[in-house]
Amino acid sequence: MILINGKETAANIKMEIATEVAAMIDNGKKGPHLAAVLVGDDPASQTYVNGKEKACREVGMTSSIYRLPEETTEKEVLDIVDYLNNDDEIDGFIVQLPLPKHIDENKVIMRIKPEKDVDGFHPVNVGRMVLGLPSYISATPFGIIELIKRYKIETEGKRVVVLGRSNIVGSPIAILLSRKTYPGNATVTLCHSRTKKLKQIARSADILIVAMGQPHFVTEDMVKKDAVVIDVGIHRVPSDQTNSGFKLIGDVDFDRVASKTSYITPVPRGVGPMTIVSLIMNTLKAAKKEIYS
Ligand code: NDP
Repeated sequence: MILINGKETAANIKMEIATEVAAMIDNGKKGPHLAAVLVGDDPASQTYVNGKEKACREVGMTSSIYRLPEETTEKEVLDIVDYLNNDDEIDGFIVQLPLPKHIDENKVIMRIKPEKDVDGFHPVNVGRMVLGLPSYISATPFGIIELIKRYKIETEGKRVVVLGRSNIVGSPIAILLSRKTYPGNATVTLCHSRTKKLKQIARSADILIVAMGQPHFVTEDMVKKDAVVIDVGIHRVPSDQTNSGFKLIGDVDFDRVASKTSYITPVPRGVGPMTIVSLIMNTLKAAKKEIYS
């Protein structure tokens, strides 16, 4: 069994990006600039945005955070989006989700210029991704694709089963792996809460990707011998083995499943660290005008 080390891979990618950013600046070009809009004081969102700011710092990119109070109106958020859309200094930006209930998330996402939508959530980017055209791919599926590439995992002709059909993880990774390219050319089955015989389908997978939000849902009997298992789930659960009293676990029962697999991502240090670094990769693409020239 080979452990897919997302933490180490993300660190390597950051070094590569830092080299590229330094070269841009040395050549007299403007360094990449990522902005983030954070509305309200949701602790998880604050942690994510702080993590994004830290990653920018580590690779020498500029970052700006627009922190707005919970009671900010939808119009005020849309005005900031318009401002960032038109500010040439900003290469790409994200609006951290979830937004407070009184703000229509779809309206906000639709307002972001696709050229600056480094989260890859705008329908134009999603549509381009589906068609196989250059696009920003949302961070988690992009991170998974990068892990598959860097670990040289064969996907052509393989049977991939994705558990979970969210717009940000399950659905895009299912589309990406069925496309006529590498990583891709796989035969993909996308499962969800209405799927019948889910265990049996999971057991048929050469590559099993799990993004359900159900702690330790995937057990040993659901995994074929020598399958590749990619666990997207993250859950903070009480633990008497750590000083903090908590530990992170995934959607896969790692301790029981790992020995059966050929490759597996752990939680933590698997898919998680790749998510932020993927956003940084998208920001570099934005600065280089790689997707939309
Ligand atoms: P969502 O809650 O949006 O989607 C979960 C999906 O799993 C849905 O399609 C749902 O089906 C399906 N599902 C849930 N329970 C079952 C079940 N018992 N049987 C079959 N299908 C089920 O989750 P996300 O995709 O946003 O996130 C999934 C997990 O990944 C979470 O733990 C989240 O914290 C984590 N995550 C981690 C990231 C990282 O950076 N590592 C990034 C993003 C998410 P249905 O559609 O029918 O409701």
